[in-house]
Amino acid sequence: ASGTVTVTFMTQIRPDLDTLPAYVPGKTIPGAIKLASNEVALPPTPKVLAAIAEAATSGNRYPDLAVTGLTARLAEARGVAAERIAVGCGSVSLCQQLVQATCREPEEEVVFAWRSFEAYPIVTQIGGATIRTVPIDAEFRHDVDAMAAAVGPRTRLVFVCSPNNPTGTVVTRAELERLLGAVPQNVLVALDEAYHEYVTDPDAVDGMDLIDAHPNLVVLRTFSKAYRLAALRVGYAIGSPEVATALRKVSSPFSVSTLAQAAAVAALDDEETLLAGCAGVIEERVRVRDALLAAGFTVPPTQANFVWLALGERTAPFAAHCLDHKVVVRPFHPDGVRVTVSTPEENDAFLAAAMAFEG
Ligand code: PMP
Repeated sequence: ASGTVTVTFMTQIRPDLDTLPAYVPGKTIPGAIKLASNEVALPPTPKVLAAIAEAATSGNRYPDLAVTGLTARLAEARGVAAERIAVGCGSVSLCQQLVQATCREPEEEVVFAWRSFEAYPIVTQIGGATIRTVPIDAEFRHDVDAMAAAVGPRTRLVFVCSPNNPTGTVVTRAELERLLGAVPQNVLVALDEAYHEYVTDPDAVDGMDLIDAHPNLVVLRTFSKAYRLAALRVGYAIGSPEVATALRKVSSPFSVSTLAQAAAVAALDDEETLLAGCAGVIEERVRVRDALLAAGFTVPPTQANFVWLALGERTAPFAAHCLDHKVVVRPFHPDGVRVTVSTPEENDAFLAAAMAFEG
């Protein structure tokens, strides 16, 4: 027999997965500049590369399940007890673990701003809970009062993203305190600070300043951006010991590899160099935004390593136009395009493309 064999069988796969949106990664196109995933253009530092190579020699053994060394190093670096830290396979995994740790019934709700990080609706749906979005305001910022009003008896978790992916805007400390003051103490508030290291606005919230006073606050950070370890998949949560314990319980075992653990420890040892490396992007984001504003684009002030172009219906043509100019950006239909701020050369290539857009 030849040709196609069609096998039909009954499965117990959840039918609701048919409607689960896929996580769309930024495209990597040979010969094109990738400004689609908020990565850092530089490789890991030499010390970090050496630590990864050394860790690879024990690649035949399972990782340390409890992530002991990295957790201790984070505790020291962040000035909190190790029992308050949970390390995960990227902070996106910790987002999923937060839903799993808080929601069990379909009517239980997860509240977040929209547009925000595209993983929030996906992990909520995977967790079988209900998505409750609150529109960002006219300035592309979280509307924390509307978010507080959206919290009800069924709310189990609130995601707050600051700086917000993809708009780059921050939540202020005063705003987060208002939200924390308005929601019931048993509702967990997850402050996703994936881009924390790029924040320079003194009014922006720093979750670490608030976790002691608010046991229902958990802060998410990642090694994927400023620490240049996106490929290694390592992020962490800091909150109350109860929340950290629950996050560890719902984690799939050994999800943080030996290489990831060693790389993250070495990155913390090399933190000064890595944080100094953010300065260029912080300078460049002002230049990039100013150039875009001068050309008539709508671009909110950004505190992250990317800019948001609110292009509306022109989103798809703009992204296609950039691709023609060998620059890969990230379209979010039908709202706009997010573009990573990178080296001056790569930013210039993007700006040249943007200036040539006639949409
Ligand atoms: N949160 C936000 C807001 C992000 O933008 C990202 C990365 N795109 C993540 C979390 C996830 O990062 P990672 O899983 O690589 O730690």
